[in-house]
Amino acid sequence: MTFRALPSVDRLIRAVRSDGADMPHELVREAARAVLNEARTSISAGHPPPDLSTLVAAVQARLRADVTPSLRPLINATGVIIQTNLGRAPLSAAACAAMQEVGSGYSNLEYDLAQGERGSRHVHLESLLVQLTGAEAALVVNNNAAAVYLVLIAMAAGREVIVSRGQAVEIGGGFRIPDVLRASGALLIEVGTTNRTYARDYTAAITERTALILRVHTSNFRLIGFVHEPPLAELTAVAHTHGIPLLDDLGSGTLIDTRQFDLPPEPTVQESVAAGADLVTFSGDKLLGGPQAGIIVGRRELIARLRRHPLARALRVDKCTIAGLTATLHSYLRGTALREIPVWQLISTPLSALQARAERIAGALRAAGIPAQMVDCASAIGGGSLPGATQPSAGVALPPVGCGATVLAHRLRMANPPVITRIVDDQVLCDLRSVFPHEDTTLINVVREVWQ
Ligand SMILES: *Cc1c(COP(=O)(O)O)cnc(C)c1O
Repeated sequence: MTFRALPSVDRLIRAVRSDGADMPHELVREAARAVLNEARTSISAGHPPPDLSTLVAAVQARLRADVTPSLRPLINATGVIIQTNLGRAPLSAAACAAMQEVGSGYSNLEYDLAQGERGSRHVHLESLLVQLTGAEAALVVNNNAAAVYLVLIAMAAGREVIVSRGQAVEIGGGFRIPDVLRASGALLIEVGTTNRTYARDYTAAITERTALILRVHTSNFRLIGFVHEPPLAELTAVAHTHGIPLLDDLGSGTLIDTRQFDLPPEPTVQESVAAGADLVTFSGDKLLGGPQAGIIVGRRELIARLRRHPLARALRVDKCTIAGLTATLHSYLRGTALREIPVWQLISTPLSALQARAERIAGALRAAGIPAQMVDCASAIGGGSLPGATQPSAGVALPPVGCGATVLAHRLRMANPPVITRIVDDQVLCDLRSVFPHEDTTLINVVREVWQ
């Protein structure tokens, strides 16, 4: 049997050691065993036995893979700026610096410097959020799903929550409004119809068991045609007439008016607060452009109630999130968000700049013998914001030569760094709307490498 040609585990380990591996013994032994197992399988399939140096190289490759993070950066050439699968909002330089600085040492996370005693981690973000949104108070938790869940548990467990039938929706990633309500122990009272709900439908559903009116921004689809939802101000009027609080789950929300980029209006947090919503929840890492977080702003006594709930402790954010979110919010306060926050840099890039870069990239690829073309296209913002809306964009199309578009797209995904594209009309399209200018050269190099 040719298995005899294989070295023993110990012999292979010694060879790997003399090749310079200084990893712990257990790790090297596991890798050596795995490589020898693979070699036996390969021999059984009729392949010739590998020599010692091949086996050593395979063990070294395994050892390198053991200490290579599975989570790594990539180039997002899908054109979709906010993608949950691709990590949502890239962080600003200031946010990264703040996270690094606070994360690498001690901080006054829960320490009152003036008094020299225990403080609260909530103070760091609250006044900023109050200033930016016009709300009385604020609380930040792990993500927006947690924010909605906390509000429902703290305010409506065992009681009724009124929701329009058109808003009992699934946001994605298994977050379904009816399920979240059930999990929180609240009873969902659906009113109206899928396409039309009026303020009077809410009024008719209010009883002494009603704890909350919930409005959900239907952030990932759009109903068009014969549709009606009452404006928020009308709904808050109904709620307040009956002494019931209203929670407005904005999902993405935004602090900046999206209409200045020829996009439809995404509801702003300030508008919701001004329209009388008692609590407003939104994500830190969608259009806000910060780290993952769930932000709750609203009336002081309600925020205090949420803060006191035991679940708030389980959903609290860490020092790095607070540091990164603070830096992100400072960009808004200074009026420099469009310039400093990557999500807004990408959204506000003029089409002509994308076209010029696409021409340059396509030219460089053609010079390398790859028949690339600049193309005009359209990209969605994504991330549960501006459903159905697109922005004009430009990209580089790679016609399927030799292999098909699916194979080429797969090769680009397996490259280093991975490049994620989309396939349009049987061509691989690198949409530059979501590619940063400093990534252009890497993009060119990756395409050249995988083209062989
Ligand atoms: C995205 C979204 C959520 C969930 O927010 P996460 O930050 O992903 O937890 C909840 N509600 C709406 C309307 C959303 O769009």
